[in-house]
Amino acid sequence: MTFDLASVSEALAHVHDRIHSAGGVDVEVLAVTKGFGADAIETALAAGCRSIGENYAQELLSKRDAAAQAEVHFIGQLQTNKVRQLVDVVDVFQTVDRVKLAREIAKRSPGARVLVQVDTTDEPGKGGCPIGQVDQLADQVRELGLVLDGLMTVGPTEGGPAAAARGFRRARAAVDRLGLAVCSMGMTADLEVAVAEGATMVRVGSALFGPRPARVPDRDNPEG
Ligand SMILES: *Cc1c(COP(=O)(O)O)cnc(C)c1O
Repeated sequence: MTFDLASVSEALAHVHDRIHSAGGVDVEVLAVTKGFGADAIETALAAGCRSIGENYAQELLSKRDAAAQAEVHFIGQLQTNKVRQLVDVVDVFQTVDRVKLAREIAKRSPGARVLVQVDTTDEPGKGGCPIGQVDQLADQVRELGLVLDGLMTVGPTEGGPAAAARGFRRARAAVDRLGLAVCSMGMTADLEVAVAEGATMVRVGSALFGPRPARVPDRDNPEG
């Protein structure tokens, strides 16, 4: 698949319109390029995005040349044994959900920028540390010398905007309580709710690039 700069620029403008309509000011758009080729990264940068998000280690490494021009955020579930390969490519690890992972990042990339991922839903499989443990994990991350930029959360699949708003409100409250700058929440489907609840960064893929091709699971590497 190849991307057309005019269409992606137009899609990005539309995302900015949606953010402004929801009351957002200075909300960063992280262009989520997972599932697409390196040209999605190049086109996002040409359209004016500064940062890109990727979920899978091997896929990101295969696009590292294009990614080198961007600020790269890792937004997928992360196995500890993948960290070593990623530290040269990733600028911000958004999915720190346990102290073991924080320790590995601190070891391989002292002082790295991270977000703690917090689970604000009542649904399984969203990832993130339980909301009740976020203060403790934030302390541990800082004690390890990592730079804690903020928190990240994924909204619920069920329950519509009301359930999403409830989860996002919890994340934003924790960001404020911890005195952090970044609140990464909201995707294509729920970005208005996230912005209304105080997102400082939305992570947007399909609204910019269209539907993702089906992912072929890698047998050796289920999490990428
Ligand atoms: C894929 C993904 C996104 C982007 O999803 P879209 O619905 O395509 O906008 C955002 N955040 C995370 C964690 C993702 O895995």
